[in-house]
Amino acid sequence: MPDAQAAAERIAQLRSELDAHNYRYHVLDEPSIPDAEYDRLFHELKALETEHPQLVTPDSPTQRVGSLALSAFGEVKHEVPMLSLGNAFEEDDLRDFDRRVREGLDLPAGDLFGGGVDVEYSCEPKLDGLAVSLLYRDGLLVRGATRGDGSTGEDISVNVRTIRNVPLKLQGSGWPAVLEVRGEVFMSKTGFDALNARQLEAGGKTFANPRNAAAGSLRQLDSKITASRPLEFCCYGVGQVQGELPDSHIGILEALKGWGMPISRELKLAKGADECLAYYRSIGERRESLAYEIDGVVFKVNNLAYQRELGFRAREPRWAIAHKFPALEELTELLDVEFQVGRTGAVTPVARLKPVKVAGVTVSNATLHNMDEVARLGVMIGDTVIIRRAGDVIPQVVQVVLERRPSDVRPVQIPESCPVCGSHVERTQLVKRSKGKETFSEGSVYRCVGRLACAAQLKQAIIHFVSRRAMDIEGLGEKSVEQLVDEGLVASPADLYTLQFEQIVGLEGFAELSTKNLLAAIADSRKPSLARFIYALGIPDVGEETAKVLARSLASLERVKRALPEVLTYLPDVGLEVAHEIHSFFEDAHNRTVIEQLLARGIELQDEGELHAEFAACATLAGFIDKLNIPFIAVTGAEKLAVKFGSLQGIIDADWLDLRQVERLNEKAARSLREFFDKPENAERARRIEAQLHEFGMHWQSEKKTVEGLPLAGQTWVLTGSLELMSRDVAKDKLEGLGAKVAGSVSAKTTCVVAGPGAGSKLAKANELGVQVLDEQAFLTAMAAYGVAT
Ligand code: NAD
Repeated sequence: MPDAQAAAERIAQLRSELDAHNYRYHVLDEPSIPDAEYDRLFHELKALETEHPQLVTPDSPTQRVGSLALSAFGEVKHEVPMLSLGNAFEEDDLRDFDRRVREGLDLPAGDLFGGGVDVEYSCEPKLDGLAVSLLYRDGLLVRGATRGDGSTGEDISVNVRTIRNVPLKLQGSGWPAVLEVRGEVFMSKTGFDALNARQLEAGGKTFANPRNAAAGSLRQLDSKITASRPLEFCCYGVGQVQGELPDSHIGILEALKGWGMPISRELKLAKGADECLAYYRSIGERRESLAYEIDGVVFKVNNLAYQRELGFRAREPRWAIAHKFPALEELTELLDVEFQVGRTGAVTPVARLKPVKVAGVTVSNATLHNMDEVARLGVMIGDTVIIRRAGDVIPQVVQVVLERRPSDVRPVQIPESCPVCGSHVERTQLVKRSKGKETFSEGSVYRCVGRLACAAQLKQAIIHFVSRRAMDIEGLGEKSVEQLVDEGLVASPADLYTLQFEQIVGLEGFAELSTKNLLAAIADSRKPSLARFIYALGIPDVGEETAKVLARSLASLERVKRALPEVLTYLPDVGLEVAHEIHSFFEDAHNRTVIEQLLARGIELQDEGELHAEFAACATLAGFIDKLNIPFIAVTGAEKLAVKFGSLQGIIDADWLDLRQVERLNEKAARSLREFFDKPENAERARRIEAQLHEFGMHWQSEKKTVEGLPLAGQTWVLTGSLELMSRDVAKDKLEGLGAKVAGSVSAKTTCVVAGPGAGSKLAKANELGVQVLDEQAFLTAMAAYGVAT
């Protein structure tokens, strides 16, 4: 036990550290350490103060709430202080709390014979946002304030008015003349992701977590910024009241709900500690699938007379407690950064961390995405970093703790040559194509130029090629692929089809039978569908969906290989960037050789056939002219040209005088058009694109041939959670067979979501957007109704 002198010193040090963290967290909305670390320091201080009660001072962080308010806002004095909550981390802490409540109320403790009294508690999720007070006079919102230091907060009246679900006027009648509603302003997980994506695109500041984003958005001096942020409010209590209210906590919340206040849907009544713990566990299980982030649950004595009797301690009520969940963010050390080479050659930095437990899982690696992210974080090897693990996503490095940067940190440097094959590593170029211009900028991705000569890329390419959704060659796991590459037996996917028994048998894991099985599996894979084959090739940005679209629309490998980028953009969901990726993949001599070898070594595509181009865009001449991206020619100009000249050749041939006669086509546009087509290569290219479109079955204003006529045409479905009666792939095939599109994410355009057990954020999003949700049984019934065997 430290002596009094040592304790006093440590106490002083902890107080000053905690004060600084409080200021950063509550005032600047820029904490530099994770909450778990703050809580550890706080508890250390509390424990020391309990041991040395003579050292407790009123200005200790253990005695105070939050931090002083920011002076840029007006001040608001809280008539009834806005307090913090005591914390429980373990079940025993919660049982202790329940015992203290019963002792405080002089209620007999429970005994072995079922005697005693169970206290009724309200149970609510503990939303991770910031506390706000809303004052209503005669039913009208007159003031909004932050908690500040509990007695003085900031006047954020203008800002709270921008929050969509804060009522400006109470509904119904019977509300007290003066009613101060308290609750949490927070940001949903989807709102947070969307905000960060927008911020990143605009080159703005991103937020480490939804709480910081909510706090930073609400405490803005410019309320227009607050209005543009996806904030929500959830009410959990009242402060100052002049008038009548029910005499229980839950009663009050129900009354508030009746007056239009949003309250938690998870609000429940529990009797005694056991029911509280059951609630804690049940919310804990659903934590990931909730639409918003929570850091625990809050239990409050439901009976208001009891609450009054129990009263308050320095910074928290005696009648409430927050039972915390394991933290999603933790501190650890960045030991090193290694570079991994992926299938497309992307060289990505991966953080090697000193192992740390985050929300119950030991994390020793985290993604750093790319070098732009490394620069944005300003992270160096040796730094202390905050790791965040939310849901099933890969752990991320979200922040550097600069205060803890040691003097011997090293910068993270992209290697000049590939760590696997030694080829040169190049920064990718981004090409932006708009109105006749191509502009280049530096991309965030670095690539090894070694391609299939790079063992890492080759291995990944082959692992992808043989995978179940691609060529589906059973018996070739990652380890086996690695061996085949390392032994020099396979230098391209085509080499799989020349493998001989003697070459394989004896390799690790390959006895006679397994070798025979593997060769049989390779032979069996010789007749893939066109879509599988295209997918298996591993064209950058071409997933299964795009591969299917290409196969279905163009119906032959030959046509896919020849398709011009502009033509590909007429296919559903194919944008210009992907179109260029596809085109340049097939232009590449090496790729062409591999494909020729595959075909020469016995690959027979099953469903090549007649064209039934499934063109998404409206096939009009005007649309086509617009797509040529001629400077100053927009859609309306293109329409006028199409009407006047009737054909591409007519437009190419139009002279200056003809063009000047086109209504509302200004001089600049006419000149630009002439200049464009005066270049023979432009006219030639436009003619080639048009000719190819016609060859592929698309004629101007021809009827659109789609999956029309199929019962689910035009619908978008999403599958989520685990399906137990059929695999997801089978379910997807069935839906597609009926003409539906199966998408990976839920939006307002989603027709229906099929949710199996364990469904998470997609289900939450569907509920939020009011999208129809079917469980697996209902889905099967629906399929059966369409005559699909299930
Ligand atoms: P708290 O967040 O633990 O609990 C009190 C708050 O919970 C209330 O003010 C309210 O905003 C909120 N709350 C959410 N749902 C509620 C409900 N249903 N009923 C009542 N209240 C509800 O305490 P605090 O004093 O606001 O702050 C302490 C927390 O902030 C700790 O978790 C700590 O880790 C964190 N913190 C972190 C840093 C840092 O540097 N990382 C610094 C200071 C504080």
